[in-house]
Amino acid sequence: MHQDFQSLSVSIKLVNQQSEIMQVAVFGKNFKEGFKDSVIEFFKIIKKFDYKVSIFEPYYDFIKDFCLYDPEPDHVFSCCDTMTESLDMMFSIGGDGTFLESVSFIKDKEIPIVGINSGRLGFLANISQEDIPLALNAIEEGRYLTEERTLLEVNSEKDIFKKYNFALNEVTVQKRDSGSMITIKVFINGEFLNTYWADGLILATPTGSTAYSLSLGGPIVVPGSQNFILTPIASHNLTVRPIVIPDNNEIIIEVAGRTENYLISLDHHFEVVEKNTVLKVKVADFKIKTVRIEGNTFFNNIRDKLMWGFDKRN
Ligand code: NAP
Ligand code: MN
Repeated sequence: MHQDFQSLSVSIKLVNQQSEIMQVAVFGKNFKEGFKDSVIEFFKIIKKFDYKVSIFEPYYDFIKDFCLYDPEPDHVFSCCDTMTESLDMMFSIGGDGTFLESVSFIKDKEIPIVGINSGRLGFLANISQEDIPLALNAIEEGRYLTEERTLLEVNSEKDIFKKYNFALNEVTVQKRDSGSMITIKVFINGEFLNTYWADGLILATPTGSTAYSLSLGGPIVVPGSQNFILTPIASHNLTVRPIVIPDNNEIIIEVAGRTENYLISLDHHFEVVEKNTVLKVKVADFKIKTVRIEGNTFFNNIRDKLMWGFDKRN
């Protein structure tokens, strides 16, 4: 592990030398009183490092109003089209949900995203408030790893998600406003798997395995496992269980239900669609790079978040 960090530090330094000044974007959501000082400290540190800073405009306005502090960015952006071209890194400040939003700015640009948590510790936003100075110093010195996260891509004849048909966590098919169950047929590489009689169905990536799928009894899947997890929501067939599928397979999801409309969501975005929509899901041909500071591993993260260490025997 130690060696990994050393070799990585070399490659990062080379990147910095090429572009000389590190160019970073900051995306964030509104925060509470208790995070004010940390935000100010964050900007003071990156200013000290002479980074070229680009801030998401609504976040910049919020900071000025709420903290009475101006981080004096070099640039502001409101959508991905107005984001600086040659970025080295993005900081996402908020929760895991904020991280998911920052992904839709980075898209396929493969720029590493650092998740800083402004509240409870998250899985994606894995740097806590008190670790901000330590994490920024580690990044400046190249003492970090990037971890690649797969996304899934959803296509259908009806072009449901016009702008962005990718998800880092999962695609969810759910019943909408009626009391009836929906019926969902699934085919894996053209072969029939099952018809689910349920409230819905989730196809999650390893990243999404700790999100909605986990609440439904799905397994925790380590990042990089190259799998999808298919987890039903309240299946009315009690022998149906979450199933893990290699992510090089194509998954077809067909809703044959009795209701007229149902919901399809990609992470936090959702659309209402009519029945008989067919979704083709495959792994996206790009990945999201998340940043991990030395010592902050996925296993540490799940032990902390899921409180495994609270067991006195550990
Ligand atoms: P949200 O309602 O705030 O999200 C629900 C919870 O999921 C939040 O605690 C969120 O963390 C957490 N979360 C998001 N991605 C995660 C990940 N990869 N690993 C572990 N926890 C994760 O809505 P949101 O923040 O926009 O997030 C959207 C996601 O919420 C969806 O992709 C879905 O996975 C999840 N969700 C879960 C349920 C459920 O468990 N019953 C129901 C609906 C949606 P933060 O509080 O840090 O944002
Ligand atoms: Mn959230």
